[in-house]
Amino acid sequence: MSHPHPEMGPPPRLAKGGLRVVPLGGLGEIGRNMTVFEHAGRLLIVDCGVLFPEETQPGVDVILPDFTWIRDRLDKVEAVILTHGHEDHIGGVPYLLRERADIPVVGSKLTLAFIEAKLKEHKITPKTIEVSEGQRERLGQFNCEFIAVNHSIPDGLAVAIRTQAGLVLHTGDFKMDQFPLDERITDLRAFARLGEEGVDLFLVDSTNAEVPGFTTSERALAPAIEEVFRTAPKRIIVSSFASHVHRIQQVLDAAHHHGRKVAFVGRSMVRNMGIARDLGYLKIPKGLLVDLKVLEKLPDDKITLVCTGSQGEPMAALSRMANRDHMIRIGKGDTVLLASSLIPGNENAIYRVINSLTRWGANVVHKGNANVHVSGHASAGELVYCYNIVRPSNVMPVHGEWRHLTANAELAVRTGVPAANVVIAEDGVVVDLIDGTAKAVGKVAAGLVYVDGMTVGGATEASLKDRRTLGEEGFITIVALVDADTGKLTEPPEFMARGFVHDQSTFDAVVPLIETALEKAAKEGIGEPHQLEQLIHRTVSRWTHQTYRRSPIILPIVVDA
Ligand SMILES: [Zn+2]
Repeated sequence: MSHPHPEMGPPPRLAKGGLRVVPLGGLGEIGRNMTVFEHAGRLLIVDCGVLFPEETQPGVDVILPDFTWIRDRLDKVEAVILTHGHEDHIGGVPYLLRERADIPVVGSKLTLAFIEAKLKEHKITPKTIEVSEGQRERLGQFNCEFIAVNHSIPDGLAVAIRTQAGLVLHTGDFKMDQFPLDERITDLRAFARLGEEGVDLFLVDSTNAEVPGFTTSERALAPAIEEVFRTAPKRIIVSSFASHVHRIQQVLDAAHHHGRKVAFVGRSMVRNMGIARDLGYLKIPKGLLVDLKVLEKLPDDKITLVCTGSQGEPMAALSRMANRDHMIRIGKGDTVLLASSLIPGNENAIYRVINSLTRWGANVVHKGNANVHVSGHASAGELVYCYNIVRPSNVMPVHGEWRHLTANAELAVRTGVPAANVVIAEDGVVVDLIDGTAKAVGKVAAGLVYVDGMTVGGATEASLKDRRTLGEEGFITIVALVDADTGKLTEPPEFMARGFVHDQSTFDAVVPLIETALEKAAKEGIGEPHQLEQLIHRTVSRWTHQTYRRSPIILPIVVDA
């Protein structure tokens, strides 16, 4: 397999007739999926998602793909195709359209409905092209065909892209549940037909490539969900992703069967389930759904709440219930069902929520103690089937961390794809398809772009480091009044500290050190306030490190007296 060199330079000019593939997100990480295709001077984008921050990225709302590589060529973009409506595939679209509002947004009915609702909150009305499986759509130089795929959200599409350079098949996120609730299976017949035509480059979802065997059918969860509804003595609170229409359908069916009523809680849950119902993706039995105010007045054993927060997100309904910061007060005998995955990185937050709920007396049913979740992605067994059906000339694993990409590449090789034609790339690596061969040829910028409150890209790695230091070490401010003529302190400096353990006399010991440093500076003719500030910074920093083994943020302010 060809691993691109980590220190690749910028790519050469794209050869005439060639196709360039540039992943700007989603390779080497789980999230912010975005792939740009370039052919004959034109660009096509597939997906534009967000990545959610980890605990080491305090204050960050979401992380975007880096648009630097296309920013000065946005007028060349034919369209952005959205394979499905998950946040890690559509969440970046508002930020992309902020840079060029009229980029056509292409997707299936439900995907477009989800992105339009999101864009409305950003006050953007997109230009959209609705497509469905089996449909072909010419987007400038790119001849696209859309193929049904099954995933943990309805209406997912794979996309085949034909150009003079060849045929590319991009799976998007998919699995091969043979008995999905909506009976819409991954269209392997289309995969086979494209394989017959000759797939020159196959981009394949790697998320579950390390998982042996096959992903269990969604229907297999029915008994465990049924069990919860059969045995729960009091209220049932279900938490899931606000986009998992089929999982929520199963919950609604079970609630209906057991004579309970249901209310949706949380803005995104109410919004998305309203959309899914209006478009016919979610079937709600008559009289099942009631307003939260009405629900609250019912006996406990008639109540089902469906809310977000299954990942321990601090602002979501479930975390707030766990913290007693929500009108729903969890109590003894309540049952909480976490019908969702446990996304790596969220473990601490989720277990914190589970512990709090348990402490209030709830019985928490989750993936760890019951069969209440299956993945939305194809396992190794399914991927191998795909390789054998498609028989691609070149393979590029997408969507996953390095271990997932590598595992997927190994599967491709085991099915007979020549190792030299399997390209493991990470974000920013430029892969050119020329004369039927895919090769990594260079690297472009693909850094993490932080959205922080109202700013995009304002927070940098350096500011996050400061935030971590503030959180772990605290800070000290020193205000020093210095006589401009003598360079001496006119009175003892004033110290203010937060998060740094101190008392009245803590800083007494550092005052003589500052005085000595200032006297020395005066003799050397150093007197500019910013120079003196640097001097005080160095002095105090060395002292806190030697005396306390701490490295707080130090902010000296020198005032001419
Ligand atoms: Zn997805």
